[in-house]
Amino acid sequence: MAYAITQTCCNDASCVSVCPVNCIHPTPDEPEFGTTDMLYIDPAACIDCGACADACPVDAVFPVDRLRGPDTVFGDLNRDWYRDHPSDHAWGAPAFPRSLPDGRGQLRIAIVGTGPSAGYTAQELLRSTGAEITMIDRLPVTGGLLRHGVAPDHQSTKRIAESFAGVFHDPRLRVHLNVEVGTDVTHDELAVHHHAVVYAVGAAADRRLGIPGEDLPGSLPATTFVGWYNAEPTVPADAVALSAAGAERVVVVGNGNVAVDIARILLTDPDRLAATDIADHALAALRGSRVREVVLLARRGPEQAAWTRSEFLALRQLPGVDVVVDDHPEVRAAIGAAAPDSRAALLAGLPLERFDGEAEPGPGRRIVLRFLSAPTALTGEGRVSAVTVGRTTLAGERASLTGEEDVIRAGLVVRSIGHRGVPVPGLPFDEAAATVAHRGGRVIDPSTGLALPGAYVVGWAKRGPSGGIGANRACARETVDAFLDDATARALPTPAATRKDFDRLIRRRRPDAVGLKELRAVDRAERTRGEAEGRPRVKLATVPELLAAGRRKG
Ligand code: NAP
Repeated sequence: MAYAITQTCCNDASCVSVCPVNCIHPTPDEPEFGTTDMLYIDPAACIDCGACADACPVDAVFPVDRLRGPDTVFGDLNRDWYRDHPSDHAWGAPAFPRSLPDGRGQLRIAIVGTGPSAGYTAQELLRSTGAEITMIDRLPVTGGLLRHGVAPDHQSTKRIAESFAGVFHDPRLRVHLNVEVGTDVTHDELAVHHHAVVYAVGAAADRRLGIPGEDLPGSLPATTFVGWYNAEPTVPADAVALSAAGAERVVVVGNGNVAVDIARILLTDPDRLAATDIADHALAALRGSRVREVVLLARRGPEQAAWTRSEFLALRQLPGVDVVVDDHPEVRAAIGAAAPDSRAALLAGLPLERFDGEAEPGPGRRIVLRFLSAPTALTGEGRVSAVTVGRTTLAGERASLTGEEDVIRAGLVVRSIGHRGVPVPGLPFDEAAATVAHRGGRVIDPSTGLALPGAYVVGWAKRGPSGGIGANRACARETVDAFLDDATARALPTPAATRKDFDRLIRRRRPDAVGLKELRAVDRAERTRGEAEGRPRVKLATVPELLAAGRRKG
């Protein structure tokens, strides 16, 4: 019986490299790899060896005959992908792992950030060079979006952290946490102490809607909402109110995977979330929540939905929650005309209902998918209580307002319209892409097109805010390849100061910087608290709590 890849696929292609018959596609060197929702196993070619299941960092691969309940659909999804993508499973050109030749001396590399793109970069650098690595993070704890972005009910995705565990046990690695680059230390100071600096800083800001009322209390960016349920220490415990009058309905603007995560967390039975590492304050608020209805507002149609197929299928199957589509002639037509494997086909079979946003939500819990609808204003007396929604129509792939408007009453609005990169002080910024200016991972000065020697970028700060965690693996490889080329060509600057000098600088600037010993103490404290409650960990949710746990002995 063949194996199949299921919902939690992280696309990092660990499975592809171990498959002895090359039956997992698209591979990182195939064009569709950049846009695919997930990877697929061809059941006709699979030899049932299970190597992919062993290699998968997120436990997404199972024998088809062991798939149960909602997961059974993935047997069909894997098989059907090969109907449209016939493959002879021929091998591409062989690729051999690169490594840096001896004779370059002891290189020192700083990585700014500790999220997934930093993790994959550190893994690659430790494997391919003898360099000493220093990881720096503004927060007193590592993980970036792996800790503070991935939803708490996606524990298997968080397992990627286990594949980075080796990085944090490598004697060539040290960390300086609770240290902000640009404030506590500058890029120039990093450059003086290291042969190379790799920026893995993600995309920290939210896109803006640019409509009246956007900043009314009760209107939150998705980063705040997600940080709140994930105990991100800069987001206060009371950032989200779910028991206020009007909170029965929440409008989430956007329909990407983050919007799907937010809708799911808002409506999942809190008893199920209680077994996860969700922030204690969020669990308490969800237990007292009045939210019954979440409206996902998408400015374009079903065919342009931004969610991935696997995440949407999971949303459809959320226990005790109905999913309905707001009825509209263009939406009905798009679903009716949907090609079998298209985005719109995922909506087939869902009830189509005329949605009345001015009426009280009904008694049960439900998600309303409202397409061809864009918010034009948020209104309310001192707090958001309604969203004015403009109907849109599609011209090609673009949505434009028709002038027709109606109102949806809601006590909370979450703007989940994507992240945006912010400039790193001292580094050139590409305003249009909202990324560090770069070519293939080398930071460049856009006015001359010349590379800044020894400066590199990876992850969302390089590609923009799209792609799941696994996409960072190939991205990190590209950036590390650029570094290896420069190191081989002896094009790296020689740092004027030593690693010890850097440690002293950090101690002077941030006496409360957190190192590996403190990080391990925090991890122990969180896991111990978790064990007592049958949870993977209970997260410490504030900077003082994290610092105090780090200082505690034993
Ligand atoms: P996203 O996938 O880019 O989705 C953004 C959504 O916001 C789209 O629906 C977009 O609509 C809409 N939008 C953008 N600007 C808008 C505006 N001015 N007005 C109204 N709507 C607007 O972003 P995301 O959800 O933040 O996700 C970021 C990345 O992380 C994605 O690659 C996602 O797959 C990944 N991620 C993955 C997982 C997972 O695998 N479980 C979980 C979370 C995130 P248009 O399409 O019309 O622009």
